[in-house]
Amino acid sequence: MASFATGLLCRECGATYPTEARYSCEFCFGPLEVDYDLEAAKGVVTRASIEAGPSSIWRYAALLPDPGVEPVDLGAGWTPLRRATRLAEVLGVKELWLKDDTRNPTGSFKDRVVSCALSSARRLGFTTAACASTGNLATSVAAHAAFIGWPSVTIIPSDLEKSKIAMTAIFGGTVLGVEGNYDDVNRLCVELVAEHPDWAFANVNLRPYYAEGSKTLAFEICEQLGWTMPDQVVVPLASGSQFTKVAKGFNQFIELGLVSGTAPVLFGAQATGCSPIATAFAEGAEVVTPQKPNTIARSLAIGNPADGPYVLDNLRAKGGDCGSVSDEEILECIGLLAQTEGVFAETAGGVTIASLRQMIRRGTIDPNKSIVAIISGHGLKTLDAVVDTAVVSATITPSLANAEEALNFLRLVSAS
Ligand SMILES: *Cc1c(COP(=O)(O)O)cnc(C)c1O
Ligand SMILES: [Zn+2]
Repeated sequence: MASFATGLLCRECGATYPTEARYSCEFCFGPLEVDYDLEAAKGVVTRASIEAGPSSIWRYAALLPDPGVEPVDLGAGWTPLRRATRLAEVLGVKELWLKDDTRNPTGSFKDRVVSCALSSARRLGFTTAACASTGNLATSVAAHAAFIGWPSVTIIPSDLEKSKIAMTAIFGGTVLGVEGNYDDVNRLCVELVAEHPDWAFANVNLRPYYAEGSKTLAFEICEQLGWTMPDQVVVPLASGSQFTKVAKGFNQFIELGLVSGTAPVLFGAQATGCSPIATAFAEGAEVVTPQKPNTIARSLAIGNPADGPYVLDNLRAKGGDCGSVSDEEILECIGLLAQTEGVFAETAGGVTIASLRQMIRRGTIDPNKSIVAIISGHGLKTLDAVVDTAVVSATITPSLANAEEALNFLRLVSAS
């Protein structure tokens, strides 16, 4: 089904533009987002029309930016929504679900946004894929570019996890390491956009199209819950884009009459080592003050989050909250999730679960209402974080006696 996108809309002053290669407002320099004619979509975009679509984010093509002839579809999205009964019991909540985005083609939720961004980029005539990245975006851009035979230029902090660098470089594009943090990388990319107008920086000049991909998390959650909405959703925060677009996704489904009731309350999740939004929320601050990141949750380490103010507004208006968790808690909760549910998440997943636990403990998340936690990246991406603690139980020479002795010893140790 054709897209119901009608144009770009300034998020600050409401000015409108066609769906062209533009990312900030001519009048106020505000960020732009894709706008839709939901009136026209009503009754045309139905549960049945969606269910007849492909097993990827493109089942929601009518509610995404127009991909032109065909989308750049490596299979992003339509990831499992798992009931997490054992973790729910540990956390003392009634109904918990995991949106398992570790299952995307390159192991993170970024495949959703990149599939959208590069589809629009191809429609708009770009021929090179690029991005400013904390890691996962670079991997996804490089993979999707390889898939369509485009060159890619991905720009990352040079001290990222080796596993993330390897996972990006393997796709054959140019990977540029910058001695600095993500915010330095991002500033550099804004300058590069001006010099290379023919490069599609997924999250800079293609940002309005990129961001729409995150809505599909909300769409899938509703559809997978049998066309109902959960009560509460915990969303990891880097730039805050995923959070704001998950909110937009639930609202669009309500407006289209595809689900009934009120939109879920959204909760943010940050690492204390990079918690500008959690801090502003806790302090009741008007603005989000940038922070120099220092956390093992590298994929969320954006000290100056572009969507921070919009997340803050949503949290305050809707009764949400935002977790802020230590690196120790992140590691502990990667283990907790793995050991209760068999799901191995990267550090961002540890941030989500630790934040969920924190907000349950302080009573802002209601344990009697349903909860969805978004697990946004695979544990293999951040092996560095766990290789020193997740180790063999014992090492022996190969004899039955040694094996029995070691197993007996380990049984005694674990019993005590
Ligand atoms: C990028 C990313 C997010 C969220 O990013 P936003 O900039 O807030 O949209 C969450 N989890 C992982 C693993 C990511 O890579
Ligand atoms: Zn404007």
